[in-house]
Amino acid sequence: MFGHKNVARLPRGYPQFFDRGQGAVIWDVDGREYVDMLCSWGPILLGHVDPEVEAAASTAAARGDCLNGPSPVLVELAELLTDTVAHADWAIFSKNGTDATGLAVAVARAETGRGQILMAHGAYHGIAPWSAVPGTPGVLDQEVSSTPRYDYNDIESLERAVDRAGTDLAAIVVTPIRHEVRRDLEDVKPEFATRSRELCDRLGAVLILDEVRCGLRTDPRGSWEPLGIRPDLSAWSKALGNGHPIAALLGIRALEHAATTVSATGSFWLNSAPMAAAVATLTRARQADLLTSMTAAGSAFQQGLRDQASAHGLVVSVSGPATMPFMTFDGDDDFDVARVWAAACAERGVYLHPTHNWFLSAAHSPAIISRVLDATDLAFGRVAAWS
Ligand code: PMP
Repeated sequence: MFGHKNVARLPRGYPQFFDRGQGAVIWDVDGREYVDMLCSWGPILLGHVDPEVEAAASTAAARGDCLNGPSPVLVELAELLTDTVAHADWAIFSKNGTDATGLAVAVARAETGRGQILMAHGAYHGIAPWSAVPGTPGVLDQEVSSTPRYDYNDIESLERAVDRAGTDLAAIVVTPIRHEVRRDLEDVKPEFATRSRELCDRLGAVLILDEVRCGLRTDPRGSWEPLGIRPDLSAWSKALGNGHPIAALLGIRALEHAATTVSATGSFWLNSAPMAAAVATLTRARQADLLTSMTAAGSAFQQGLRDQASAHGLVVSVSGPATMPFMTFDGDDDFDVARVWAAACAERGVYLHPTHNWFLSAAHSPAIISRVLDATDLAFGRVAAWS
């Protein structure tokens, strides 16, 4: 068992294996039921086993999921994406977030003929060597970008990194918000987003927005669209297929040629069932009411956490967009308190994570949120008694 889904990283009592999911609820193999506040680490946007998404996927699968070429649903999905995401003129598809961010890096290097990719300290863009932390076992030093990382939202550090990259700057990669593990989530400062766009424009570099985690949970037109800042490339996965394996790299017209030159392919990348699932998911995600009701539910959850913590005499910081909330305890640098609280939530049938942000889906109704808040209140009580 490897990576983020290894339960060894969670407090004792969390299940490793699951039996099924339905809407906002999941069941482990021992039959225990949890409200899923992690949404499979992001992919579940409409709820587990959404009937429309599953019908679309199984209809496509029944016709042959993996054929010698794509089904026309590829064109339908590409058109829907380019119609939805403001900066996008074209799309190429793959499976995972790592594929999409890796393709973005390849397209940026192919276009510019340069090598350096700037990314933020602590940011996660997948498991490819270009974004690895130096010293990661199995990764050669020469595979890791040699330019020091910038600090998210810190214009000076971004400018320093750009200076260090010099004439070899190919791209700045940035996430729509700061969403590193083990810290409060932080909105992007508009002036930081603006500066990253200006620097890329001035230096002929490519601005890559990694939408893998935020995509479809903040603004389906693109998470920086409300700021009026458009990237050149954006990488999407997770929520795109409501749990079906699909990723997309979207780009502007000027990068279309470069995108046709990079090495991009995979045995399962053009399977039709995940694309049909993505069409169904995106069709729903484009409807304004989806984010409105998810945001209302998420805001009620965030406010409920704040109120409960203060009623228990605990100081917490609740952060993140309403659809991607997170909470830390004051002074809990090692996340010991968070682990006690999360374990108590799990015991009471709410599955969330002590160090990674959570996700809401459309299935998180007001009734589900109030069920979650009943459990979190008891968990705060446990923490208050423990600390
Ligand atoms: N980028 C971001 C911002 C992510 O959160 C993740 C996954 N957590 C990835 C890229 C990599 O996606 P995947 O795990 O599907 O390869």
